[in-house]
Amino acid sequence: AKADGRKRERFFAGEMEAQMQLRHALEADLRAAVEREQFELHYQPLYDLSQHRICGFEALIRWNHPIRGRVAPMDFIPLAEEVGLIVDIGRWVLRRACSDAAQWPEGIKVAVNVSAIQFSSSDLTQDVSEALAAAALSPSRLELEITESVLMENLSEVLPILHALKERGIRISMDDFGTGYSSLSYLSSFPFDKIKIDKSFVYDIVENKEAHAIMHAIILLGDALGMRVTVEGVETAAQLALLEREECDEIQGYHISPPRPAPDVPNLLSLLQNG
Ligand code: C2E
Ligand code: CA
Ligand code: CA
Ligand code: CA
Repeated sequence: AKADGRKRERFFAGEMEAQMQLRHALEADLRAAVEREQFELHYQPLYDLSQHRICGFEALIRWNHPIRGRVAPMDFIPLAEEVGLIVDIGRWVLRRACSDAAQWPEGIKVAVNVSAIQFSSSDLTQDVSEALAAAALSPSRLELEITESVLMENLSEVLPILHALKERGIRISMDDFGTGYSSLSYLSSFPFDKIKIDKSFVYDIVENKEAHAIMHAIILLGDALGMRVTVEGVETAAQLALLEREECDEIQGYHISPPRPAPDVPNLLSLLQNG
């Protein structure tokens, strides 16, 4: 048994070393990716339930790795945040999203995810202004999605930035609502334009009475606070129908469309307008 234990330790040590090497390789590749423009934005429709039409798109980053193929954001965004690369990547995302959106019809907004690091290690207001100016996009067409972790980092530092952005006409959404530890208390710290209810609240709303009740209550809460309510991760027609009855403002999910490359946007718009 002792020999087995030692074997296991050696195995784990080897495993850990392999993990470290993979991480280092990935970090080096990620640095190069910024310069080599290996990133791409895909766009997922935000669908307005009362108007029955697309009202915007969320920009979701994709990394086309020369060997690994397409790497999902969850497999490199956390690393990019840790090593500070998210600042450059975030700047690129803002610029690309604004210039893509400038090609879309006037009523169509673009939503961009912003990470906590971008608030603390860069001048976010300036990055945003530059991206809007370069694309000649109206600030009212841009939504920034932030998670609770942004507010947790340093509320007194973040709030003035959020207010400055809002004063310029940029909309601010609270993303992944309901997944943090104290989402409710953060709702009163800033007048968000929109809350996006996390997909973990959606999957069983049709079958499960309690899940339905929770969804009902969150929609009422957002409404009472004067915020638009978006539900993410809508995958079925039954979920859509229930959310329509609940007077949810907006949905996003595979049922409407998965995220698609930028050239597909005009097609999605013509297929899904009043459809
Ligand atoms: P998120 O902001 O919550 O984005 C929604 C995620 O849900 C996306 O995953 C999207 O593809 C996925 N999704 C959409 N509809 C459905 C559905 O019906 N069912 C299910 N199960 N999933 C659905 P994705 O594209 O893999 O992005 C994952 C996360 O990576 C995002 O979560 C966001 O936190 C982060 N991310 C993506 N792009 C960026 C970016 O440009 N900057 C930053 N800082 N983070 C980003
Ligand atoms: Ca988001
Ligand atoms: Ca989300
Ligand atoms: Ca999420």
